[in-house]
Amino acid sequence: MPQKKGGIMVVLSSPSGAGKTTLVNLLSKKSNYTVSISHTTRKPRSNEVNGKDYFFVTNDEFKRLINNDEFLEYAKVFNNFYGTTRTAVIQGLEKNQNVIFDIDWQGADQIKNKKLNYKLITFFILPPSKKILFERLSSRDMKDKLIADERMKQFDRDVLHWINYDYVVINNDLDNCFKKIQNLIDAEIENGSKDYDRNFIKSHIDKLLS
Ligand code: 5GP
Repeated sequence: MPQKKGGIMVVLSSPSGAGKTTLVNLLSKKSNYTVSISHTTRKPRSNEVNGKDYFFVTNDEFKRLINNDEFLEYAKVFNNFYGTTRTAVIQGLEKNQNVIFDIDWQGADQIKNKKLNYKLITFFILPPSKKILFERLSSRDMKDKLIADERMKQFDRDVLHWINYDYVVINNDLDNCFKKIQNLIDAEIENGSKDYDRNFIKSHIDKLLS
C-alpha cells in the first residue's frame, strides 16, 4: 500500500436537513481546510452566490463537463445534477490543503472507489429524530412545502447508506457534533483511539426507521 500524500479528503454527507452545511462551514474555518465547490444544474436559492455556494450551470454545460471527463464524481440528486470537478480538488490536496466535500452518498461511493492516493475520511450526519428533521426542512427557503415532504420520503432511502461511511455522527447539538467530527479526524490523522460506538449508531438508525 503506497504512503498517502498531501492533504486529507473529508466527505460529509447526510439526508437533506440534518445540518450538514453548517458543519461544513464550521470545518472550513479551521486553518488549512478548504471546501470543494460543486457544479450544479439546480437553480440558486435566494441566499446563494455563484462561485461561492456552487457553480450554477446549465444542463448543456454540465453535459460538456461530463464529456470532457472533468468530474471526480457526479450524480443526479432530487432531479438535478451535482458534481465535483477534479482540478481544483487535486491542486488543493497537492498543496497539503485538507479538502471538505459536501456531497451525497453516490458521490461519496464514487470518490471511495477511485482509491486516490490521499487519505479519505467519510462522515454521515444524521438528525436526532424525524420530527426535528421535518421542522428543519419546513423552515427553509423553499417555494413549496411539497419539497419538504418529498425530502422526508427520500430520507428513509438515504439513511440506508450509512453503512458505507467511516463514521456516522448524530447532530443533536451543533457544537457537540462538530467536536465529535474534529476529534475523529484528529484521531484518524494521529492514529489515536477513537471515541465511536457503532452499536449505538445502529440502534439510533433502527429508531429513525421504525
Ligand atoms: P442542495 O440542493 O440542498 O444544496 O443539495 C442537495 C444534495 O446534493 C445534498 O445532499 C448535497 O450534499 C448534494 N451535493 C451537493 N454537491 C454535490 C456534488 O458535487 N456531488 C454529489 N454527488 N452530491 C452533491
